[in-house]
Amino acid sequence: MLSHDILIVGGGLAGLAAALQADPSLSIAIISKVHPLRSHSVAAQGGINAALGNHPEGRDDNWEKHTYDTIKGSDFLADQDAAELLCREAIPMIYELEKLGVPFSRFPGGVIAQRPFGGAGFPRTCYAADRTGLVIMHTLFEHVWRRRIKIYSEWLVVKLLVEHGVCQGVVVYDLTSGLIFPVRAKAVIFATGGYGRVYLKTTNAYINHGSGIGIAYKAGVPLKDMEFVQFHPTSLYSKNILITEGARGEGGYLINRHGRRFMADYAPQAMELAPRDIVARAIQTEIDRGNGFENEYVLLDLRHLGAEKIKKRLPSVRDICLRFAGLDPIEKPIPIQPAQHYSMGGIDVDIRGATCLPGFYAAGECACVSVHGANRLGGNSLLETIVFGKIAGREASRYVKNSHIREANPSFMEAEARKIDERVEAWMSRRDGEKVHRLLNRLKVIMTEKVGIFRNEKDLALALEEIRNIREDYEKRGYLAGHNRRYSQEMVNMLEFEYMLDLCEVITMGALARRETRGSHYRLDYPERNDKDWLKHTIVTWKEGRPILSYKPVVITKYSPVTRLY
Ligand SMILES: Cc1cc2nc3c(=O)[nH]c(=O)nc-3n(C[C@H](O)[C@H](O)[C@H](O)COP(=O)(O)OP(=O)(O)OC[C@H]3O[C@@H](n4cnc5c(N)ncnc54)[C@H](O)[C@@H]3O)c2cc1C
Repeated sequence: MLSHDILIVGGGLAGLAAALQADPSLSIAIISKVHPLRSHSVAAQGGINAALGNHPEGRDDNWEKHTYDTIKGSDFLADQDAAELLCREAIPMIYELEKLGVPFSRFPGGVIAQRPFGGAGFPRTCYAADRTGLVIMHTLFEHVWRRRIKIYSEWLVVKLLVEHGVCQGVVVYDLTSGLIFPVRAKAVIFATGGYGRVYLKTTNAYINHGSGIGIAYKAGVPLKDMEFVQFHPTSLYSKNILITEGARGEGGYLINRHGRRFMADYAPQAMELAPRDIVARAIQTEIDRGNGFENEYVLLDLRHLGAEKIKKRLPSVRDICLRFAGLDPIEKPIPIQPAQHYSMGGIDVDIRGATCLPGFYAAGECACVSVHGANRLGGNSLLETIVFGKIAGREASRYVKNSHIREANPSFMEAEARKIDERVEAWMSRRDGEKVHRLLNRLKVIMTEKVGIFRNEKDLALALEEIRNIREDYEKRGYLAGHNRRYSQEMVNMLEFEYMLDLCEVITMGALARRETRGSHYRLDYPERNDKDWLKHTIVTWKEGRPILSYKPVVITKYSPVTRLY
């Protein structure tokens, strides 16, 4: 049986950072459902935060101010010890990336350039034009390659193996051979990213199904704060390709049908650079009030920035507009609308990236430490992937070296893989029923219509009912029309769909239970934040075949919650 000391599932930034930090004397491997360089991290545009103080207006910045902005941005739901760690580590981490070879944009004189981003008191977002994720990914990937870390591409993990109360490995579906088999590991790190594709409108890549989060949940690992879903204010109308917050950071305006900079009504100080939850709600409110265009979008105007700045600082934004909207932002404003973008919640991990299951760690977007609380600030996610990816790599190595792990029984592992194989056989033996793309579409519609930017009790309850109906159809009538197991996208979708249903159920349950408004979770029927009853993390655990809801306290070190004004 194939065996490694540490298996890292996910080849995005969190996975690559974990691999580079893991102890090189151990046998380490990365598993990814696509080639690592096709992970969603490559799409990150705007930048990565660190209080370097390089910007002329940012000389007084420091990591404590960054911490406070992060906590306030989170609507005080972030764990303050974790936010402190993130922001303190940010500064040495950026210099480390620079030494590894990341080609950051520079100010005249040579220091790393920084731009303003939403919810930040100072311009502290480091960037490489508007291709930040791409360049960091390529740099880290080169180092992984140089270290000859084993990579299994086009392998989908479908189950976590737990025996004797510890994590023992995973079951994979190898797309290239069509086979399903177990892989043994002393420790497993999940770095499987977000789940944007459970929504119709999302900035996320096609592969972002979030199955990793669901796999952990079904293995009994609790999920945290899943009801907090970030909607990005500015995705290109109808295509929903992201137009980075960097465009507003560079000075872009949001304009309604009457030519008005409407953010003056919602965040008079911060204007377009208020945090994302506030800007996304403002845009949606303008559209709903008839102040948008075609009841669908408003405009992002960059024309006053001038051709030179747009070409130099926002080349990808311009390219996206030219290719996908047939317009040049130098000459015309960009039609934009909010779209699902990021998952604040995820696998419940502590500050070391550890879960309650010995030997199982998680980092990056799939995990919830929590540093983003109820709303993430732009530029803090890339930061989290690397800071906590490294921590998870280090901690998993320590675990493997220090603990005496009782080896799993190979026949147990083979049997677990066989169960999945038999399920695939059963789907193939059905002659008709529901195809997975139709089921997925039903799920996306319900999540978009009823579990979106604005929520209420009635819609959330209806959503929960419909999710359970879809699950019944999936279990009783789901089938695979194609019978070829190699490179079967249908099989990938079918295997991941169970977990997508789990995530949607957990998101909706948490949202229904949380009778307050906090950060990205806006309840029309409870429009105020309620610290007395709800300053706590939502925990959902899969126990004895059903989801169980519980809560745990937020770690507060020194910042008392105040009203969030921008
Ligand atoms: C368009 C866009 C722009 C963004 N811009 C910024 C920005 O400028 N700044 C910022 O801070 N944040 C930004 N973000 C957010 C940030 O990019 C992501 O949160 C972050 O890159 C996620 O990294 P990750 O390593 O956790 O996951 P990902 O990069 O999504 O990688 C997930 C990996 O897991 C693998 N995987 C998933 N499931 C399985 C499975 N079951 N089996 C095997 N492999 C699996 C995938 O193949 C992939 O390799 C942006 C996000 C988007 C969508």
